[in-house]
Amino acid sequence: MKKHLLFIITILLICIVLFCACSATGQYFLFGTFIDLNIEGSGSIKTEKEIASELERLEELFSATIEGSDVWRINYAKANEAVTVSGDTMAALAICKNIYELSGGAFDPTVYPLVKLWKFTADTYTGLPSAPPSVEAINELLSYVGFNDMIMLDETENTVTKSYDEVQIDFGGVAKGYAAKKSADIAQGKTALLNLGGNIVCVGKSYKIGVANPRESDAAYFGSMTVENGFSVSTSGDYERYYEYEDVRYHHIINPKTGYPSGINSSTGGMNEDRLVSVTVISEQFADCDAIATAALILGKENGVALLQSLGLKAVLIDCELNYLLVGNVDFVKK
Ligand code: ADP
Ligand code: MG
Repeated sequence: MKKHLLFIITILLICIVLFCACSATGQYFLFGTFIDLNIEGSGSIKTEKEIASELERLEELFSATIEGSDVWRINYAKANEAVTVSGDTMAALAICKNIYELSGGAFDPTVYPLVKLWKFTADTYTGLPSAPPSVEAINELLSYVGFNDMIMLDETENTVTKSYDEVQIDFGGVAKGYAAKKSADIAQGKTALLNLGGNIVCVGKSYKIGVANPRESDAAYFGSMTVENGFSVSTSGDYERYYEYEDVRYHHIINPKTGYPSGINSSTGGMNEDRLVSVTVISEQFADCDAIATAALILGKENGVALLQSLGLKAVLIDCELNYLLVGNVDFVKK
């Protein structure tokens, strides 16, 4: 009798161990956002741990607030001082330069001093109503914005040189997409759904992915689509970090041409009627798609669609009246 019981317990334990080994989930808070890793297949626990340590490694390089990170060292370097950075930081900077040029300067990490001025960095953001900064303060900081004029990259020596002491950068619009690509590379051969704060990658099979409703709580979604194996989804919207003041919504994506959050008319201070509130890009070339979604949101409907079409990307764009527009062949179904 005792022997039988021991046998059953052993079998049960083996089943539990096998089940655990075949799927792994993990939630982390990195890059200022929640990260959900879901991996199936044998060895998934090991893969999950490998991805988590890769993400932690990238955070140490890319964070603007971790003292000694590559981005921090660039931000606190003097003008004309060559700062040596890692290959990953140089690769992310190369993506920034490319999307800066493709978007006519809409995507521009040198906008960081303005992200701070508007209180949208992790350490300044409260979400509480706050009067917008003065025009003088905005204009003063705009003189240090402009990627190609402010930042020199030497991709052979892996060095970065700034034009002025005051120039600062932020990888908030590119880091999660870059990290998603790195994570997907590690998960190859498994079945995995990786969500890095709205940058979602499907590995090994297709998944049904929801697009968040930009005006409702987290649980509500606007619509959904099937995303194929090897594809990713990146969303940028005006609802992640924002505050309202006198009926105007100020959010964390800054138009580098005006120094105001995208969709705000800098002359009147009001909101543009034709502004976009959410852009979701679906693509196989996904390290860049985080930045492209941010760029398209800033460019607005007409120019945003033109950019996405010129790159042959699929996208779901949502305007301020919650009408949606599809670019390319997306099997999007509105809820
Ligand atoms: P989220 O971080 O909410 O997913 P995005 O991917 O669009 O949204 O990135 C927004 C972040 O990028 C901001 O929080 C800020 O750190 C940075 N950012 C803001 N405006 C720009 C811009 N014009 N170009 C590049 N990065 C920007
Ligand atoms: Mg983005």
